[in-house]
Amino acid sequence: MSQEEIGDLNLLTIEEIKRKVKEIRTHLPRDERFFITYSKNFTLSLSNYCQNFCGYCFYNHRIPKPNGQENAILLENEQMQTAIQRGISHDCKEALLMSGERPDSFKEVKDELEKRGCKDFIEFVKEISKYLLDFKILPHTNLGILTYNELKILKGYNASMGLMLESSNPELLKTGGVHEESPGKIPDIRIEHINNAGKLKIPFTTGLLIGIGESFEDRIKDLYLIKKIHKKYGHIQEIIIQNFVEKPGIPYKPGEVIMIKDLLRISGIAKIILGNEIAIQVPPNLISGHEKEFIEMGVNDFGGISPFTIDYINPRKLWPQIDELKKICEMQGYHLKERLPIYDKYIQRKDFCSENIKKTIDNIIY
Ligand code: SF4
Repeated sequence: MSQEEIGDLNLLTIEEIKRKVKEIRTHLPRDERFFITYSKNFTLSLSNYCQNFCGYCFYNHRIPKPNGQENAILLENEQMQTAIQRGISHDCKEALLMSGERPDSFKEVKDELEKRGCKDFIEFVKEISKYLLDFKILPHTNLGILTYNELKILKGYNASMGLMLESSNPELLKTGGVHEESPGKIPDIRIEHINNAGKLKIPFTTGLLIGIGESFEDRIKDLYLIKKIHKKYGHIQEIIIQNFVEKPGIPYKPGEVIMIKDLLRISGIAKIILGNEIAIQVPPNLISGHEKEFIEMGVNDFGGISPFTIDYINPRKLWPQIDELKKICEMQGYHLKERLPIYDKYIQRKDFCSENIKKTIDNIIY
């Protein structure tokens, strides 16, 4: 994509974006045109320990948590059992498994893994994933950067996996940038991870983090980059457009606050660039009160919504009530529909869905 093309997209008014998005939607089969999806899930936060220290992060173990809450070295077995039981009672189909990046690079985590009889963190995650499947709960894992082999191990027990591209602007790694102390945020390493997931045919979620020091141009370039990777492997089922939100105790103080209108623009432009092939997702707890405008900008997925676990990245932002969200969608002429963490088209697509996952899906009624 040329500077001129980026400039052209930049010049579009909100109304022009809206019109283009509407036109793109007409290419969908009629029965798919008026659905917005979400996945009913709960989160298992496995470890706050992280090799990186991103300036905007509240999750990292180096940030003290309020109300005397401890940073987890490794999720306790009892906590997991309680969450699973609650997940079952709420009829959740997905468990989001998340952690800091490479937690087992820390001695505290390594020692705890040893006590639990696991040789490394990946084995721990694999065992939890297998266990969840026994309860007909589909894991979606996002642990930060993994090797090709680690992705391969987890694919067998995960319905889908994820890694935010965030931003491929290398300037963010320089002194004073949000990724200054985050070796895992080197763009080439993240791009390699997303490519590897494609080679392994893993249904995948990625996305942009907006408002961390990147420019409008960077965002557009990254959307084209995601499009290019998807063209090669066909594995990206959704992209998240996620805005930075201020949190207590974090080092990053944005020079410029991200406005809803900026998010709306980039969501609409994402739809224009990616078309109907990849779902455009915004976290509904971060855009509350503006759902209608985002739907008009082509957003067609609200991601994982939990009836009982918090958003660990933005703990002050509460998940919406599904019934409320349903009403909002209906007022716009859309139907809010539950989906699994693997999109239907990937269940059917050859080699994208492992036998373990297929078997579990056969036992899930949704
Ligand atoms: S954003 Fe992710 S990678 Fe960065 S410090 Fe937080 S947990 Fe680690």
